[in-house]
Amino acid sequence: DLTQATLNRINETEKDVDSFITISDEKALEQAKAIDLKGITESNPLAGIPIGIKDNIVTKDILTTAASKMLHNFNPIYDATVMDKVYQADMIPVGKLNMDEFAMGASTETSYFKKTKNAWDHSKVPGGSSGGSAAAVAAGQIPVSLGSDTGGSIRQPASFNGIVGMKPTYGRVSRFGLIAFSSSLDQIGPMTRNVQDNALALNAISGFDEKDGTSAGASVPDFTAGLTGDIKGMKVALPKEYLGEGVDAGVREAVLKAAETFKSLGATVEEVSLPHSKYGVAVYYIIASSEASSNLQRFDGIRYGYRSENVKNLEDVYVNSRSEGFGIEVKRRIMLGTFSLSAGYYDAYFKKAGQVRTLIKQDFDTVFEKYDIIIGPASPTVAFGLGENINDPITMYMNDLLTIPVNLAGLPGMSVPAGFSEGLPVGLQIIGKPFDESTMYKAAYAFE
Ligand code: GLN
Repeated sequence: DLTQATLNRINETEKDVDSFITISDEKALEQAKAIDLKGITESNPLAGIPIGIKDNIVTKDILTTAASKMLHNFNPIYDATVMDKVYQADMIPVGKLNMDEFAMGASTETSYFKKTKNAWDHSKVPGGSSGGSAAAVAAGQIPVSLGSDTGGSIRQPASFNGIVGMKPTYGRVSRFGLIAFSSSLDQIGPMTRNVQDNALALNAISGFDEKDGTSAGASVPDFTAGLTGDIKGMKVALPKEYLGEGVDAGVREAVLKAAETFKSLGATVEEVSLPHSKYGVAVYYIIASSEASSNLQRFDGIRYGYRSENVKNLEDVYVNSRSEGFGIEVKRRIMLGTFSLSAGYYDAYFKKAGQVRTLIKQDFDTVFEKYDIIIGPASPTVAFGLGENINDPITMYMNDLLTIPVNLAGLPGMSVPAGFSEGLPVGLQIIGKPFDESTMYKAAYAFE
């Protein structure tokens, strides 16, 4: 009944938000029936719960497009490890969610298929790249979704739609079966309407996976264990760079108010500095684009998806398939990345970016010697208008100013609703120590 009700709700609301690329209704109802027959035990709180999946996560027998023409007809023959875990938890995937093409973007407008709308105001973007994952949860289509975050793609759309989004520590969740954008930065994470659901979902998808070479062996605690509301004595840091230039006044106000709430709950809040965070965007666009240019080489018109018909020889197959199959933002990243990796420029760009990445990480290490969590805005602005920034890549890139340093340092970061500005949701970003998502959830639960 729950699965059917969810599918009905998706059908009613889809024309308003356009968050799904594929709805896997038959498969979902079949699975729901099987779970009914088996019976639901109390020990598994997620059994029978519908979930939506970002369309860059590989799903066996369910179309997986990464929102690209290149993969418009890709029907995988295997499941990502997170999907194995979703099925083990008896959760029911109901469909694949819209996103920026290959997760490159901050508004979901680079999707080949459709433009998803912000759940609060249909004239605004849902954020990105996990815009479909965020809007679907915020619009009440599904209670939980999976997104991916390379430079902010879970936290920024969560912030724009007033929901909870967690990017776990790098290595916490297996990347096996996540269509790679930037392998040293990508992480999958849950998006939900509240903190407790988020913690439950992260419990379900975490853990070591031998199929992912960077999967971490760290043990997985019960992330719901610390949800008591008691954060007395917690040490909270507020970086001054996170309230500086480029951050809207209304967002700053909401974050300062959040800081007061933490104080009233018995935590201490002190100003700190992350002096190298201002280089985050520059470093990110070199590293992420370089890795992307290499990862996307596999889309050659032969092994996967789209193949141009307009060919005379082998060279045409490669060139025309890629020229016709990739959108403009993906091509921009491939060019940026290929340039930064090329002989003569490697030392000046890719190598240098790696060095500055280390400095950014060391800033965080220093702060975490004294503090338990860091807070700040998830995004410098609230949701902007559809079409407003799509022709201005630099403005679009700057939207991830405050999320990118967290990926570069491999840290966990989440966005929690923190009120409104200009009638639209503001997200509070909480950043934690490596593998200490528990403390973040504890703080977020007390705050929400
Ligand atoms: N907006 C950033 C980009 O375009 C981040 C995307 C992401 O996290 N996948 O690369």
